[in-house]
Amino acid sequence: MPTDAPTIKRLETFTDDFVCFVKVTDCEGGIGWGQTSTYCADITAQVFHRQVAPHVLGKPTDDILALVRHVEEKEHKFPGSYRCRALAGLDTALWDLLGKRQGKPVVSLLGGTPGRVRAYASSMKRDITPVDEGTRLARLRDEKGFTAFKWRVGAECGHDVDEWPGRTEEVIPVVSKMLGDGMDKLVDGNSGFSPTRAIEVGRMLEQHGIGHFEEPTPYWELDQTKAVTEALAIDVTGGEQDNDLNVWRMMIQGGVVDVVQPDVMYMGGMSRTLLVCDMAHRAGIPVTPHAANLGLVTMCTMHLLRAIPNPGKYLEFSIEGLDYYPWQDGLFLGDPYRIEDGDAIVTDAPGWGVGVSPDWLSRSRYAVSERG
Ligand SMILES: [Mg+2]
Repeated sequence: MPTDAPTIKRLETFTDDFVCFVKVTDCEGGIGWGQTSTYCADITAQVFHRQVAPHVLGKPTDDILALVRHVEEKEHKFPGSYRCRALAGLDTALWDLLGKRQGKPVVSLLGGTPGRVRAYASSMKRDITPVDEGTRLARLRDEKGFTAFKWRVGAECGHDVDEWPGRTEEVIPVVSKMLGDGMDKLVDGNSGFSPTRAIEVGRMLEQHGIGHFEEPTPYWELDQTKAVTEALAIDVTGGEQDNDLNVWRMMIQGGVVDVVQPDVMYMGGMSRTLLVCDMAHRAGIPVTPHAANLGLVTMCTMHLLRAIPNPGKYLEFSIEGLDYYPWQDGLFLGDPYRIEDGDAIVTDAPGWGVGVSPDWLSRSRYAVSERG
């Protein structure tokens, strides 16, 4: 469809090994900032300049999904994670550009409004004793006002072997009791269990007031997850790793999980994530996205949750500091991720409403693709 929207003039990346920010500049000088998915970001930046940028330079900036689909078709022999991770950089930079052009936050472009988003305090650790985990989560309840918490059971892809013997049996009741009544309680199995063991663990969760059991079995085995979902009364959730829309269709139409958890960055950006949200909406399934660090993914997820008709009960909000995520240090200007009474806040600032730190940018590795 012909359009008179400004076209993409330049795509720049600023990367270290963990984070890659993308800056888009249009032919009228408009600018937007986005980010590719985290980890191996230096490799993702190469994919971005080799397999994304060349297909979109000179193209109009207003139909983001059309650009994403164009890249997918041009690179149809490269489906999968890296293409999506790199596409996320293009997509999120263009949403920021559109927002800045219209003077609106992305949430408003999506049909929502700025405001508060209830967050759950999300632990990323397993090498922590149940008492230490309960202690730090209870402190966050008291200091930041969180009313929902997620901690970890089993071991990542653990084949029923715990982080250490007996940890799962201990961490479920201990943390639940330390948090007390009236809190929403979630756990994550990170593909750690067989269906039989997952159902056994699920019964423990039911007894101790935990309502969300994430990724109980190997995530790629949809039948195993579905067996757990059907056996348990509590919500079985998943999907954080998935980016293939056909897999999402099978998961949603097949009743594999009770709650879907797309990750905006693993998905390839907002546009493709919205397709999953819509599919879930039509099936009556809520969306509690995966957002496991305080890079741009959590901000994108905040905007998303205030716009879609089927948001889950809360935003995933990582509680880990620089001991766990040293690379999160000093990414953004100001304090976009402050928590007030357990809520994160989407402001009315245009685009994503965040500024990337010039100091961080000055330390990063730079590359540019430009229309000749
Ligand atoms: Mg998870």
